[in-house]
Amino acid sequence: MNGLPSFFKEKVPSNILPYKLENEAQTREFLQKLVDVLLDFIRATNDRNEKILDFHHPEDMQKLLDLKIPDQGVSLQQLIHDCATTLKYQVKTGHPRFFNQLSCGLDLISMAGEWLTATANTNMFTYEIAPVFILMENVVMTHMREIIGNSWRNGDSILAPGGSISNLYAFLAARHKMFPNYKEKGIATIQGQLVMFTSDQSHYSVKSCASVCGLGTDNCVMVPSDECGRMIPRELERLVIERKNKGHIPFFVCSTAGTTVLGAFDPINDIADICERHGMWLHVDAAWGGGLLLSKKYRHPRLSGIERANSVTWNPHKLMGALLQCSTIHFKEDGLLMSCNQMSADYLFMQDKLYDIKFDTGDKVIQCGRHNDIFKLWLQWRAKGDEGFEKHMDKLMELSEYLVRRIKEQSDKFYLIMEPEMVNVSFWYIPARLRNMPHNKHREQELGKMCPILKARMMQAGTLMVGYQPDERRPNFFRNIISSAAVTEKDVDFLLNEMDRLGHDL
Ligand SMILES: *Cc1c(COP(=O)(O)O)cnc(C)c1O
Repeated sequence: MNGLPSFFKEKVPSNILPYKLENEAQTREFLQKLVDVLLDFIRATNDRNEKILDFHHPEDMQKLLDLKIPDQGVSLQQLIHDCATTLKYQVKTGHPRFFNQLSCGLDLISMAGEWLTATANTNMFTYEIAPVFILMENVVMTHMREIIGNSWRNGDSILAPGGSISNLYAFLAARHKMFPNYKEKGIATIQGQLVMFTSDQSHYSVKSCASVCGLGTDNCVMVPSDECGRMIPRELERLVIERKNKGHIPFFVCSTAGTTVLGAFDPINDIADICERHGMWLHVDAAWGGGLLLSKKYRHPRLSGIERANSVTWNPHKLMGALLQCSTIHFKEDGLLMSCNQMSADYLFMQDKLYDIKFDTGDKVIQCGRHNDIFKLWLQWRAKGDEGFEKHMDKLMELSEYLVRRIKEQSDKFYLIMEPEMVNVSFWYIPARLRNMPHNKHREQELGKMCPILKARMMQAGTLMVGYQPDERRPNFFRNIISSAAVTEKDVDFLLNEMDRLGHDL
């Protein structure tokens, strides 16, 4: 840290705003230095010659970092240095060779929005303290509902801290709709066992609702899925009837649009028919696949029927690349969120305010304070327009189709597990010694054993990150995700070549 002015060496509170008004210029200089550190990280993230990560085991990483909280505060110089060190060891999730997670990429407009959000530092509970952001939330949520379906225009939505909590809101609203007295009287108002249904491929947060809300996980029925990971509607109806015959109360079905591992889409229309026949709430968990609603080419048949649902979870921080966190939950019926969750705290939600209090959205949620997740999404959508997002979705899907094509062309080295419906591509890498072997259970076991070893090599080389996991049908396999605007066809070629370079001798 050469060339820093002397005030950088002094203790923090003594020399920047709000403590020393005369040091406005020095405050600016400090923040500009910080921005330089951030810009260096952004440059490195977009540089294919830079590593994605500099891996160290936790015990070694602890030695490399000075994380302790000191008795006496450190200098501005030290803080700038700390920021640079933090980013030096952080995994670059926006790197074009990071294929590891559903949320990746670094959208710079959304990031700019997050910077502004941090600077405004407000809470989303009332119009009183977040007027512009509350109006934005209204506009963007209405726009998203219109994309789900025309009949959703006058529904209701809220941003939640993640898709898991969004799913919980759907559960709460469904129970409230069916048992409006539950809120005041509790469990005794429900004469019988509530049961919910979801596929065995659904996100674990759905099952978690059953645990959190007093059903017990045994009453979250896991409906079998087909080879491709889609819920089998016939099995759903069989299981609903089975529970009804026991005197239970089936009330909630979660249909997944874009499963987390395989990227499969449950057949919403068939599931909606069953929900209508048995008087159950239909929730669509489109946390992952929701982005494809923006694409005319890929929306159907995957999300056909979504307008028939009662609620939809849709995470812009996944396929749409909004910065973490940005998750939305939408309801076709207005008013449920408020009547279900309202507690009317006297000190926040006074009824005699200066303005129309329907803009105080804070009482619709089970949190008190709520982070501002709307501005970064609004700004990103302003920049792209609907058309830009549609192109972005189409590009991610086309790159995934390219990856599938390249895997098939190199079938000696790679084994495609299934034709994907989304950007999740599931496959095995085949090292040289296993290439001239019939593909059977034995070879799958061997290929499964290769995954953690090859992944470890990727992380140690720092050149590539791809996730792997087992599922009910097979041992470990790779699941590649293309969800970042930085990825090109050349990166897809690199991905396959690099796996082969690192793994051929396994
Ligand atoms: C990621 C995911 C979730 C959970 O979202 P978080 O924002 O991580 O809580 C829920 N459902 C599906 C299908 C997902 O892929």
